[in-house]
Amino acid sequence: MTNNPLMYHKQGWIEVICGCMFSGKTEELIRRVRTALIAKQKVQLFNSKIDTRYGIDSIISHNQNKVAATCVKNSAEILPLIQKDTQVVAIDEVNFFDKGIVEVCDKLANMGKRVIVAGLDTDYRAEPFEVTAALLAKAEYVTKNLAVCTKCGNPASFTQRTSKDTKRIVVGTTDSYQARCRRCYKKPKVKPLSK
Ligand code: ADP
Ligand code: MG
Ligand code: ZN
Repeated sequence: MTNNPLMYHKQGWIEVICGCMFSGKTEELIRRVRTALIAKQKVQLFNSKIDTRYGIDSIISHNQNKVAATCVKNSAEILPLIQKDTQVVAIDEVNFFDKGIVEVCDKLANMGKRVIVAGLDTDYRAEPFEVTAALLAKAEYVTKNLAVCTKCGNPASFTQRTSKDTKRIVVGTTDSYQARCRRCYKKPKVKPLSK
């Protein structure tokens, strides 16, 4: 029995951590997961098979902070893997998922789980990722991180792609992306998005 009414009713909710690349989304997700683990909560962590940058069984931030995670192919794989006594479900790179992830997060929160997702709010053309945008609208708690502009040092909220790729999702790190501020970001001249 607890005096905290939220805990007593096993109230769930959604937290979104968004921002451009290098803004510390993964670091913040890992920090929240670690705090929950210190509080002896049962946590399940997921990432997308698309994100192969750092291996498949863990989430690693750009500064090499690392926690174990289950790699899934799509949103439908998540619910069957959720254990009954899990209190916290964390998902990194939520923008890599299909749109079913929005309903999955909603269901988990309705089941009483604390759902923490991290992901890009916009793509390399500065257009919203639909999945992140929907989750931002549905979330109880929203955090927008900023990085440091690699050109001028101002706060950066844009992801500049430095390669010539036009596909919306191209997995990469400092080899092909830079954090840029509004002034230094150059919108690429591309016609319709190639998937
Ligand atoms: P995200 O998940 O948002 O892409 P991470 O949490 O993986 O970001 O990494 C954030 C870390 O990236 C920072 O703590 C810093 O060490 C590093 N970093 C590299 N380039 C930048 C930049 N331009 N601005 C801020 N941090 C950067
Ligand atoms: Mg990340
Ligand atoms: Zn700048």
